[in-house]
Amino acid sequence: MKPASFEYHRPASIGEALDLLALHGAQGKLISGGQSLVPMMNMRLASPAHLIDINDLSELAGVRDQGDAVEIGTLTRHCEVVSSALLKKHCPLLPKAAATIGHHAIRQRGTLGGSLAHADPAAQMALVARTLDARITLASRSGEREVASGVFFEGAMATVVRPDEMIVRVHYPKLPPQERSSFKLFSRRHGDFAIISVAVLLEVHEGWVRKLLIGVNGASPVPLRLDAVAAEFLGKTPDARWVEALGLAVSRAITPEDSARIPPIYRRELARGLTVQALQELLAERKGDVA
Ligand SMILES: Cc1cc2nc3c(=O)[nH]c(=O)nc-3n(C[C@H](O)[C@H](O)[C@H](O)COP(=O)(O)OP(=O)(O)OC[C@H]3O[C@@H](n4cnc5c(N)ncnc54)[C@H](O)[C@@H]3O)c2cc1C
Repeated sequence: MKPASFEYHRPASIGEALDLLALHGAQGKLISGGQSLVPMMNMRLASPAHLIDINDLSELAGVRDQGDAVEIGTLTRHCEVVSSALLKKHCPLLPKAAATIGHHAIRQRGTLGGSLAHADPAAQMALVARTLDARITLASRSGEREVASGVFFEGAMATVVRPDEMIVRVHYPKLPPQERSSFKLFSRRHGDFAIISVAVLLEVHEGWVRKLLIGVNGASPVPLRLDAVAAEFLGKTPDARWVEALGLAVSRAITPEDSARIPPIYRRELARGLTVQALQELLAERKGDVA
C-alpha cells in the first residue's frame, strides 16, 4: 500500500522543527529513521498531514561524554550505538542490546529517539533505558523538560511525549567496570522483534551481590524493572542455587498477557531461562577476571 498524501517539511534547525510541531500539533509527525513510521503510513495506521524530517539536524546525533553520564543524541542510529567506543567502555549494555535490533539495514537507519518515541513493547532501547534509569530530554517551543524512563512509557506505543514535543537527547549513567551487564532475548526468527528480552546488571563485591538490576520486556505493555525481586537477592553469594532461584523469581514476578499465540507460561519460562543465561554469563566473565 501507499501512504495517504502529506506535506513534507525538512527543517534546517531544531528551532524550525519545534515551530513546525507547534504549528501542526497532532497533524504533524516527526520522521527520523522512518523504520517504524513509514511501514505504519504505508499500512494507513498513521496518516500525518505534515511529515517533519529531522535528518538534517546533525546536532541531534552523536554520543558524548558528560562526566558521570553518557549523552546520546536522539538522531543517533542504532549502528552508531553498536560501534561507539565510549558506550562500550561506560555503558556496554546499550551496544550489546542495539546489536540485536532487527537486521543490518534497520540498524543503519533506525534511531534511538525514534525507537523510544515509538515505544514498541518489545523494543531493546526502551528496555535498556528503563533498566538503567535513563533520563530523556524533551524540547518544545516552551523549553525543555527531562523525564525519567520510569515514567516515560505509558503503555504499548504510548509515551508522555506531547504532539508539540521532540526527544532531543538521552542521558545514561556511566557504569563502573565492576558492574557487569548482559542482554538476552528470544525471537522466533533472527531479526524479528523479541518475544521476551532480559537485561541484567550485576555487581559482586568480595563474593557478595552488591548491586542487581533486572529489566524484562515482553511481559507487559511497558518495559519492567523488577526491583522487588532484585532486592531479595542482594547480599547473597551468587552460586548456582542463587542463579536458579533468581530465574524462577523473575518468571513468577511477571504476569504476561494471555494470548492464544503465545501463552503466559511460555513467556514466563523464557524469562526464567534468559535470566539464568544472563547471570551465568556475567558470573563466568567475573571468574575469568579473578583467575
Ligand atoms: C523489519 C523490521 C524489524 C525491526 N526489528 C526491531 C527490533 O527487533 N527491535 C526494535 O527495537 N526495533 C525494531 N525495528 C524498529 C526499528 O528499531 C526502528 O528504527 C525504531 O522503532 C524507530 O526508529 P526510527 O528512527 O526508524 O523512527 P521513525 O520510524 O522515524 O519514527 C517512529 C516514531 O517516533 C516518532 N519520532 C521519531 N523521532 C522522534 C523524536 N526525536 N522525538 C519524538 N518523536 C520522534 C515518529 O514521529 C514516529 O511516531 C524493526 C523495524 C523493522 C522495519
